[in-house]
Amino acid sequence: MTETEKSLQDGASIHDTFDCEHLWHPYTSTIDPLPTYKVTSAEGVRIRLADGRELIDGMASWWCVIHGYNNPVINEAAVGQIGRMSHVMFGGLTHDPAIRLGKKLLEIAPPSMHNIFYADSGSVAVEVAMKMAVQAAVSRSGDHGKTNFITIRSGYHGDTWNAMSVCDPVTGMHGAFGTALPVRFFAPAPTVKPWEEWDPAEVEPLEKMVREHRDELAALILEPMVQGAGGMRFYHPQYLREARRICDENGLYLIFDEIATGFWRTGKCFAWEHAGVEPDIMCIGKGLTAGYLTMSAVLTTREVADTISRGEAGVMMHGPTFMANPLACAIATASIELLEKQDMAARIAHIESELRRLISEADVLDNVKETRVFGAIGVIEMKEPVNIGEFQRKCVDRGIWVRPFGRNVYVMPPYIISDDDLATLVRETINCIR
Ligand SMILES: *Cc1c(COP(=O)(O)O)cnc(C)c1O
Repeated sequence: MTETEKSLQDGASIHDTFDCEHLWHPYTSTIDPLPTYKVTSAEGVRIRLADGRELIDGMASWWCVIHGYNNPVINEAAVGQIGRMSHVMFGGLTHDPAIRLGKKLLEIAPPSMHNIFYADSGSVAVEVAMKMAVQAAVSRSGDHGKTNFITIRSGYHGDTWNAMSVCDPVTGMHGAFGTALPVRFFAPAPTVKPWEEWDPAEVEPLEKMVREHRDELAALILEPMVQGAGGMRFYHPQYLREARRICDENGLYLIFDEIATGFWRTGKCFAWEHAGVEPDIMCIGKGLTAGYLTMSAVLTTREVADTISRGEAGVMMHGPTFMANPLACAIATASIELLEKQDMAARIAHIESELRRLISEADVLDNVKETRVFGAIGVIEMKEPVNIGEFQRKCVDRGIWVRPFGRNVYVMPPYIISDDDLATLVRETINCIR
């Protein structure tokens, strides 16, 4: 078969030979790649494959497509901005899309947030947050050794160097990088769930470790309430209140990575609101641009920003090429305005109660360890790791799109999903593990 014939054949096929041979997908082998399914368009909660089949999206494309695909309001904002300018450098220049988005973000952020750093992706936001913490901690203490980090196990903060160093050492695949990764401090992951009774012993190992190493530590970094890609775990808000206290008592900054939890996924605009304690530095991404473009932001207090500026360097040492990309800013603003037009607390509470009812059907299955729901996130934790390739083939056959990792089969659909589609999504997800 010639290349042309092959690609013609591929045009109508849901698999593509060029893709299979040449394109890297996330965490895949080139020797034994998992099949990929070719998508030609997407609308609302439906992903359309090259052979015309449609799948109900249970992943919101990894947390970000919060309003569904091809949203007319966001499309209009994007097209309008493209007609004016897609990009202009942020060094020495500014623009209304960045200013408008900044104002919106400060309206919805924790009240003490004052300064905003726009970055390109979630991982870069985490890098920036960690650099902020180091610069501020050294400037505040005058101690050049106060540069390390503490976190909890089962976390996920991204795939770049420093973000990776604070991911769970096992599920974060630290082993593959050996001594190349900076060595961080890890407290045990919290185990008390948000709806369970708080146990003060839960936070003792963290407190002990911080006290022992406070002179080396710039900050504690956490995903508030929900540990996402490191294990899909939910934990008690009191842990965050204790974490805040421990940081204050020991001179550490507190970083909340809200990249997955932000923009209503947990039932509040941001997850810190469940606990009522604010971080010193906060990362947002994923849902920020509703899945249209890659963009993130790091928000911090005036104290942190000015402490950095009083430090040796005198400036925040970061400046990406695509910083504050106007197109992404315009899209993000349109997305936040869409959220503001709806009663999102009620919307997520409804999805949560539906998810809880639907997913409990899986409790009786022998291969299921437990099911749990928090906000618009439903998790079926299996007793054994799931065979992803096989699972996804079943999903596609059943008209849904769900991508498990490890032992976790989970759904976090776009917020616009109808009750019928949500019921089909969960029912067919359960059928795939039967
Ligand atoms: C996805 C994620 C990141 C990384 O974001 P990317 O845009 O993939 O770089 C960081 N932290 C958390 C909590 C995430 O869920």
